[in-house]
Order: sequence, then structure tokens, then C-alpha cells
Amino acid sequence: MLASMSEFDLIARYFTRPVMRAALGVGDDCALLRTAEGMQLAVSSDMLVEGRHFFADVDPSRLGHKALAVNLSDLAACGAQPLAFTLALALPRADEAWLAAFSRGLFALADVHGCELVGGDTTQGPLNICITVFGELPKGQALLRSGTRAGDDVYVSGTLGDARLALEALRGRITLPAGWMAAARLRLEQPTPRVALGLALRGIATAAIDISDGLLGDLGHLLQASAVGARIDTSLAIDLLAGSPDFERAEGLLHHEARLGCVLAGGDDYELAFTAPVSARTAVQAAALEARTPVTRIGHIESAPGLRLVDAAGQPVSGQFASFDHFA
Ligand code: ADP
Ligand code: MG
Repeated sequence: MLASMSEFDLIARYFTRPVMRAALGVGDDCALLRTAEGMQLAVSSDMLVEGRHFFADVDPSRLGHKALAVNLSDLAACGAQPLAFTLALALPRADEAWLAAFSRGLFALADVHGCELVGGDTTQGPLNICITVFGELPKGQALLRSGTRAGDDVYVSGTLGDARLALEALRGRITLPAGWMAAARLRLEQPTPRVALGLALRGIATAAIDISDGLLGDLGHLLQASAVGARIDTSLAIDLLAGSPDFERAEGLLHHEARLGCVLAGGDDYELAFTAPVSARTAVQAAALEARTPVTRIGHIESAPGLRLVDAAGQPVSGQFASFDHFA
């Protein structure tokens, strides 16, 4: 029960819309999802906690977007088509302006992906948002972390590191030119889940993961699940920090190490890291084009476990990028 407005009024006003694809949505004890013959459900949950995953004063419509985006990113990594989601919400109070903006951002992204809110839970407490998302894919076609083999290429979608730069700027540790900051902040607060790319990579990629905690850490999970290692060319990876048109102008702003640290271990990127056989290079580029999402080849898989960072000449690059702190 929330003060001023009943829990049920709140749900009805901000979180109930007519169902489109689900057999039953908000209002009963369970929602009912249709599943087609030959399809599997892909299910994932992600929780956002105030102070830990976002600042208390973040724009609520961006927060609504991000809460769903981080979940859709998991479906993207599996190559699943979004279907529906549930929303478990702890709110300190029923703040109608906040709820209106939050639900606007949430539903705007949901509508882009035809993913409908079918249920959830609402309670009073410290602000906490937990979404569970449901997607579907043909049986046996999920992109998993465990499918890569020695010799495969390693790719990353889009750009990496801007979200971390925005975070460092919001913490007051660096200053970015205004145009770059606005773009970087959008990457942090309103990430784009790479759903179309995940779908286009079905049957092409051998393994995939979404990058939420930084490239090296998340790629490490994929390597571990596949019991292989990788060699990454940092001279290719560093260009992934694309930022904004202001970037070239501001290039002197960051040390090489800090730039590389943002790319390799920045976090909150929600890009896909994936692998594919060398023979699939043309197919990967065609998938990227179809999904209107650029992809960059940054290295390859090797049978020896571990991640080896090298420069353009193949020489080892040292640095503790998994826990880098080069902004001082
Ligand atoms: P129950 O007591 O059976 O758990 P509730 O009274 O908590 O059900 O919720 C009533 C209905 O509203 C349920 O269908 C539930 O799924 C839905 N619901 C509750 N909170 C939310 C929310 N934040 N977003 C969408 N649906 C919600
Ligand atoms: Mg309940």
C-alpha cells in the first residue's frame, strides 16, 4: 500500500494497457503467454537499485527506458524476439509526476520492440526496479555463451566506453565537452539494446554475450563457458570509443590508457560481443547491415584459456584493465 493513491489505482493508471499478443495481461493472478509450436521461451531478469545502478535524480523517463533496455539486451544476446515483460517495483512514495515520466519512457521502448507489460508487483520501499522479460526463438537456435571454437573471429557491436566516460563526468572526475557529454550521457542513461542484431546473427554467430560489466569481464564469461581463450588487438579495440563528433577535438583529454580502459572495462555499454567462424565474415557484415548496427572484428579465439591483449605488431599489452582507474 502506498500513501495518497492506492496500489491498485497506481497499477491501473500507469501500468495497465490492453494486451496485444499475450492471452492475458495485468489484472489476474497470472499473465498467460501464447507459445507457438516449435518455439522456446527465453527468460531473463535484471534489477536496478537506486544508488547502485542509477543516481536518485536521474530523469525518470530515461530510467524507465533503461530498466527495460538492460533486460532486452539479454534477449538480444540470445537472439530472442521480445514478447512480454513483468515489472516488480518498490517505490518510496506514489509520486505521480515521477510515475508518469517513468511509464512513458518504459512504454516508448516497449512499443519499439512490440514487448508488452503483462504483470508485476508494486510495493512501498527504497526505489528498486526489477523487470523479467520473455522472448521467443525457434527451438535450438539460441545464441549461447558456450558455442565458440578456436579460430573463430571475435566481434563487438557499436561503440564501447562512452557510458563509463559519462559516469566519470557525473562523478566530477573528468570534464567532457558539452556535445560529447550529452551523447555519452545518453549512452549511459538510455542504452540501445541490440535486439535486431541478435536476431540477424541467429545461425551465424557461434556464441554471444551482452556487455554490461565491461568487454574484458563479459568476454571472459563467454571464453570460460566455451573453455577457450582469445587474442584481442587493442589497436582495433581502441577505435570503439567513438563518442561524438567532438571526440577528435577533445582527443587530448584522455590518456591512451584511460581511453583503452573505457573501451575494455568501462561497463554499462549494452553492446554485443560475439564470435563467428572466419568463413562467415561476409554473413556477419550482411547481418550487421540488415540490423543497421555496425560491428567491428577485434581478435580471434584460441584454444589456450585466458585473454591476451596485443598491439598492432602483436606485442603483449600490459595493464590492469579489468579494474582500471586511470582518470586521476
Ligand atoms: P497478487 O496479490 O496476486 O500478487 P497484486 O495485487 O500484487 O496481485 O497485483 C494485481 C495485478 O496487477 C496482477 O495482475 C499483477 O501482475 C499486476 N501488477 C502489479 N504491479 C504491477 C506493475 N508494477 N506493473 C504491471 N502490473 C502489475
Ligand atoms: Mg502482489
